[in-house]
Formats: sequence, C-alpha cells, structure tokens
Amino acid sequence: MADRSLSRKLFENARQVIPGGVNSPVRAFRNVEGEPFFVSRARGCRIWDVDGNELIDYVGTWGPAILGHAPAVVLEAIHQAAKAGVSFGIPNPHEVEMARLICDWVPSVEKVRMVNSGTEATMTAIRLARGFTGRDKIVKFDGCYHGHVDSLLVAAGSGALTHGKPDSAGVPAAFADETLVLPFNDPEAVEKIFAEAGEEIAAIILEPIPANAGLIFPKEGYLQFLRDITAKHGALLIFDEVMTGFRVAKGGVQELTGVTPDLTALGKVIGGGLPVGAFGGRADIMDHLAPDGPVYQAGTLSGNPLALAAGLAQLREMEKQDGWERLNRVGSAFEQGTMAALEKTGKNFTFHRVGSMFCLFFTPEKIESVTDVKCADFAAFRRFFWAALEAGVYFAPSQYEAGFISLAHTEEDIARTAEVVEKALGAS
Ligand SMILES: *Cc1c(COP(=O)(O)O)cnc(C)c1O
Repeated sequence: MADRSLSRKLFENARQVIPGGVNSPVRAFRNVEGEPFFVSRARGCRIWDVDGNELIDYVGTWGPAILGHAPAVVLEAIHQAAKAGVSFGIPNPHEVEMARLICDWVPSVEKVRMVNSGTEATMTAIRLARGFTGRDKIVKFDGCYHGHVDSLLVAAGSGALTHGKPDSAGVPAAFADETLVLPFNDPEAVEKIFAEAGEEIAAIILEPIPANAGLIFPKEGYLQFLRDITAKHGALLIFDEVMTGFRVAKGGVQELTGVTPDLTALGKVIGGGLPVGAFGGRADIMDHLAPDGPVYQAGTLSGNPLALAAGLAQLREMEKQDGWERLNRVGSAFEQGTMAALEKTGKNFTFHRVGSMFCLFFTPEKIESVTDVKCADFAAFRRFFWAALEAGVYFAPSQYEAGFISLAHTEEDIARTAEVVEKALGAS
C-alpha cells in the first residue's frame, strides 16, 4: 500500500477547521468510501501527493487543465500579467481580447460577460433569461449540474448525487417551485410541460452533453428538438457549456452539433486553471444587462487580468497546436486501451467518449439518462478506483464524474494507463 500518512494527517487537521475537510464536496472521496490525498505539485499529466506518490491524472482539476498541469505558456502569461498588477477593477485590454475570442469561437455568442466561476455564469444566465422574457419558470434536466445556484440545485448531478442528496437544505421551496425538472432525452416530457405551462417558461437550461452524471449523449435530433420547441414558445435555450466549452471542440457542443442556443455559460478550460467563468449569447438579450439594461450583475474581480491572461494563453496554445484534433487522437488511443482491457478481463461495461472526455460505466446497460447510471455497480467502481490509484493512476473518485485527457498525456502514459485499467478491472 502506498504511504499516505502525511495526507491523512493533513485531512485530520483540515476537518477541524474546514467543513468535511474540503472546499468542494466531491474532493472528500465519500463516494469511494475513503479519504482524499493532498497534492503538493502538478506538472503535465502528473500529480504528486504530499507523501511523494506520483500519479497519472485523469481529472485535470475537473476539466480546466486541457494542456496538462502548469503549461509553460500559461505560467509565462500569468507571470507577465502579474508584473503589471494583479487586479485593477477598471477595464483592461485582456477583457476585450477574451470577449473577441469567445465571440469568434463560440457560434451563438455575439456578446459576452466575464465572471469568476461556472456557477456565476449559469446563475446570471438564468436571471437574464427571466429578465428578458418576463417569465419565472426554468426547465432543467435530472442529472444536469449547473453549479450550486439555489434554483438549479434540484436533481443536480455529481456532487449532489454522490452525497445522495439531490436537493440542498437551505433552498427555499418557493425557489425550487420555479424549477421544473424533467428526464433527459425524453422529448415527450418536454412537449407535455410546454403544453401545460409554455407561457410561464423563461428558459430550458441543459448541459448539451451532460458530464456531471458520468457522460451522457443526447439522442439524435434531441438538441434540435429543444431548439425548436423553445423558439416556438418564446422561451430561451441555454447551453451550460462550462464543462464542454473549449473542450469537446473549439466552439463547444454547439459547434459539433450545429445547434445554437440563445445563451451559453462557460467556465473551466476558459480560465487556464484560474477562476474564470463567462456567459454570452444573442446581443439583443445580452443588452438587457446592466449598465445598458435592467438585469443587474456585477463582480469586483470579474475580468481579472491574471485570470484572463492565463485563459487566453491556454486557448491560443490549443489553437496553435490544433489541440482538439490531437486530443481526439489521444482520446481514441485511450478508448482502444480501455476496450482491450475490458475484453481481456471479460467485463461487459459501457464506455462513452467524446474527444478528450470519457466515462466507464460499471454496467453493461445502455446509458441515456441519470436513471440508467444509477444502475451501475458502485461497489465494483470503488474497488476499481482504489486499485487504479494504488497502481499510479488517478481517475475521478465517483461513478458520476467524467474523466479528462490532456495534451500532456503521451502515448506511453496512455499505454501505461491501459495496463493499470486492466489490472484494476481484474480487481473490481
Ligand atoms: C463545473 C460546472 C459548473 C459549475 O462551475 P464552478 O466553476 O464549479 O462554479 C456548472 N456547470 C457545469 C456543466 C459544470 O461542469
């Protein structure tokens, strides 16, 4: 067994002064019935814990590290920006460059505002949709996670699911009442709700490829169906591309599928590892934001020069390296390794991948919604997780999380991972 005594000690201390010992619940490793390790350093596709154990990382700080950890271009950009000052609270040139890039890359975005997290992005997109339409109700889908926004913490994915509490205490019932939750991939349920309450619905918000309940694909034509039905009823369509934006393609799922939402929430990859979010969309809608319009939104650190310099450096480097094409090839090699390991160990499990995102479901069943994911063999997942960790590969500590491959994962890393996956599947 790997020595994790320093991590154990830190966690003991952490629990005395931080609720649950962590600053975000899924980090507590509850779903794998263990304790987290503490990281001292991360570089490329590797992380090192405080006890000196080296791991190949497939979490990538939950998505942002698309070039790998601490890439030279991002470090240099942060360094240069910091020399000029770390925060101004007055417009700076990085903001214009970032806004221009987002508008150029993300098909539906004509204007964009920067915030500091994905949660802020979805929260404000919802407020804007309500302010623009003059309606209150929001439709969301079971298993889609949109950050810890009050009215969106209803039947949310990963962290909330992992803890077996799909709803949070502290959310007024009146807020949750304005949120209509439907099963994903079920057009009839959407038709029914619009027939009943179409006039009251401000927006549908969804992860166009849900990645907080494993990794679920929309059925053929489903996104276009949502586009059409919202347009028909005067409701907005909001894509939460916090996870998929700049990850599955330069322009996110909307580029891959050609379906364009009215508003888009962004985060994760956009900040190069620093706290950044953004939301944008049709100019006529975005112009409803203060100071031009009546929908209020603000942020002391929004458009922070350090964070935007880091994000811009990461995105430009992805473009320069033709990163999405390359990631697709690495992802394909990863998939082949995983499929071979499944075959060798005789495990008939469902594997999903889009580009550099993947999920291995510990069930042979078809996965089309979070209800299907709930049928997975969680005990087997747990044994797999710990066996892989022991052998030097870190996958996300929950069956409800997707995995992330970065440009820093080499052929050797992928080959080594396939060996570990085979061994860990054998132990599952
Ligand atoms: C991570 C995530 C969020 C929340 O972003 P934070 O930066 O953690 O607030 C929202 N939506 C989706 C789809 C996410 O994956």
